[in-house]
Amino acid sequence: MIDAHIHADTRPYEDFETMAVAGVESAITCAHDPLKMSTSAVVLDHIHRLMNNDVKRAAENGLKLYLALGIHPRSITSDFEVILDKLPSLLEHEDVVAIGEIGLETTSSAEKDVFKRQLQLAQELEKKVIVHTPRRNKREVTQITSSIIHENINPALVLVDHVDNSIIDLMIGFEGMLGITVQPQKMSPQDAVNLLDEYGFEKFILDSDMSSSPSNPLSVPKTVHQMKLAGFEADEIEKVSRGNASNFYGI
Ligand SMILES: [Zn+2]
Repeated sequence: MIDAHIHADTRPYEDFETMAVAGVESAITCAHDPLKMSTSAVVLDHIHRLMNNDVKRAAENGLKLYLALGIHPRSITSDFEVILDKLPSLLEHEDVVAIGEIGLETTSSAEKDVFKRQLQLAQELEKKVIVHTPRRNKREVTQITSSIIHENINPALVLVDHVDNSIIDLMIGFEGMLGITVQPQKMSPQDAVNLLDEYGFEKFILDSDMSSSPSNPLSVPKTVHQMKLAGFEADEIEKVSRGNASNFYGI
């Protein structure tokens, strides 16, 4: 299995063993806002921690970590240009599979500007992108997010994450991939099973988004288990828990 969106820097060492024991072979850890990001130096130190420290902590427990790097909408510093300048060279690191997670939280003009510039960079470098959708005003923000994606990048390079029942009707026709985040307070394994049952398997990739919010390192294995109990075919389960992520990110 692949857990396609986690925040490894917020999790204890033992979580990686728990995941590996349950059959999660790899995960993508995304840049985010683990603390107040006062300056570009804090964001870059966070990125270096993911690259150097967390990849090693996971590997010591048998979990291969890949990286998604970028400026999260809650991590926009006044000197964000410094990060944008360094991003292309950071993306050359062999474990980086995407720019992310990026997107909109409040739809401020600074958020839109930083989001567009990272989408344009991804288009130029032909990198995949992991796009966040927020918990608050989710539907309204997702509509704006979707139009900015279509104006700035080939949508086939993009995964829109944290898709749930409140926005699935907006996103099911999207040309890229869709992430289903199975996380306490967001979506249960059963909710994910119901969504997959209704909308099929080709577009979806499962993740836990495990972070310092209520989270479960076993979200993907538990969803796979629920799918087995519900009688899904083995190849359908394989697609959403490994194959689609493997194809999309080339991992
Ligand atoms: Zn996240």
